[in-house]
Amino acid sequence: MEPSDNPRLRPHVLVLPTPAQGHLNPMLQFSKRLVSRGLKATLALTVHFAASMHADPSLPVDIETISDGHDIGGFTEAESIEAYQVDLRVVGSRTLAKLIRKLDRSGRPIDAVIYDGFLPWALDVAKQCCKLGVVFFTQTCAVNNIYYHLQRGLLPLPLSGPSVEVPGLPPLEPSEMPSFVYKLGSYPAFCDMLVNQFTNVDGADFVLFDTFYELEKEVVDWMSANLWPLKTIGPTLPSLYLDKRLPDDTAYGINLFTPTTTSTVSAWLCSHPPRSVVYVSFGSMADLDPSQVVELAHGLALAGHPFLWIVRSSEQHKLPRDLMDSIPSEQALILPWCNQLEVLASDAIGCFVTHCGLNSVIEAICLGIPMVAMPQWTDQPTNAKFVEDVWRVGVRAKADEPGFVAREEVERRVTEVLGGGERGREMAESARKWMAAAKAAIGEGGSSDRNINEFVEELMSRALIE
Ligand code: UDP
Repeated sequence: MEPSDNPRLRPHVLVLPTPAQGHLNPMLQFSKRLVSRGLKATLALTVHFAASMHADPSLPVDIETISDGHDIGGFTEAESIEAYQVDLRVVGSRTLAKLIRKLDRSGRPIDAVIYDGFLPWALDVAKQCCKLGVVFFTQTCAVNNIYYHLQRGLLPLPLSGPSVEVPGLPPLEPSEMPSFVYKLGSYPAFCDMLVNQFTNVDGADFVLFDTFYELEKEVVDWMSANLWPLKTIGPTLPSLYLDKRLPDDTAYGINLFTPTTTSTVSAWLCSHPPRSVVYVSFGSMADLDPSQVVELAHGLALAGHPFLWIVRSSEQHKLPRDLMDSIPSEQALILPWCNQLEVLASDAIGCFVTHCGLNSVIEAICLGIPMVAMPQWTDQPTNAKFVEDVWRVGVRAKADEPGFVAREEVERRVTEVLGGGERGREMAESARKWMAAAKAAIGEGGSSDRNINEFVEELMSRALIE
């Protein structure tokens, strides 16, 4: 009998994302791929995160909870970022070990813990519980290679010179490095967390990255040859948007925010010609300066294309009311949250103004949508550099000295993408090329498909032995 035929012999993985939408989505999607290959997967979410989300009841994974010490309010209850990270590590380690023991006693013991690279303490817990440890990185290989070099003392700080050389990467201007590295001292707790991802990674049994080989060939080759035998397993969008081999996988399935109903959004989109609408979103966390919101609103209005703008409820007070009221409703739709994949897949969308969170960038690549990059912090400036100069699927909106993008710059960049000029055509062509490469990577026999198969086979054989 094959292990996958007998549920008691199917390896059982416990998957631990950082409690944030942008980390949960790729790790949940990877779990679904493992389930489709015969594994059992259980997600471990913090109590507060689990209580705040809406989960599709038909998800093929189980959900269990651990504690971050802030079961009622989560992150917002902690005194500071530093304090939250300590609580998450200390209380999280204890309750993760308790959860593993509970599942072990339930008759479906855990074989491996797949943990977010942001939570390196989970590897210590996995090893103490005699489980395989699998690190899953939710940022690009390029960005992680930069943090790796910092952690090993191979990248002197503060950065100096017109460009910084990191093996496997094109020369980067200091401002194209992750913000925590470039603006040293901004959010030191986050910088420490990202650098600390690499303190114990050598002890992990598997190293996985949410990217695909063709997208980051040079840096993947360098890291594979010099660091670890890593596996790229992305893109991690629902199968409907990629290979369609997982028939029920049509959406991520867990939302922290309530999306506006599909029929409302698609009715508005359908009233516009193909490739005419600008979609604008800054993801689940960005907190834009109010004057930046005003500049963006004016820039979108000046560009003259219809736009669909996601402004989370907590951000809506920053909108310039008079301007917004003067724009006809067929020209602008402001929503607090939507199903972003459905929107990006609509024929009407021709341009995505994005903060360059990695999920949003990869989603745009997979759906062939050129971007205007407006990075805010963390890995976003580096992602934006790759969007413009390496993958050539977008343009960066240039910020002035205090870091603001003026309305004229927004207008100029949106026009560059949608205005019908040479550069716009070139970006659209690159976007089509990358869309095909992304689908091929996760499709049958593609680079990520092979890596996932290898991972499952190795995990099955090691789980049966250990
Ligand atoms: N997203 C969504 N609806 C929205 C805005 C965003 O479903 O209205 C999803 C988007 O598809 C992506 C995630 O939220 O998967 C945001 O992740 P990203 O890495 O882009 O940004 P973050 O929120 O981590 O800054």
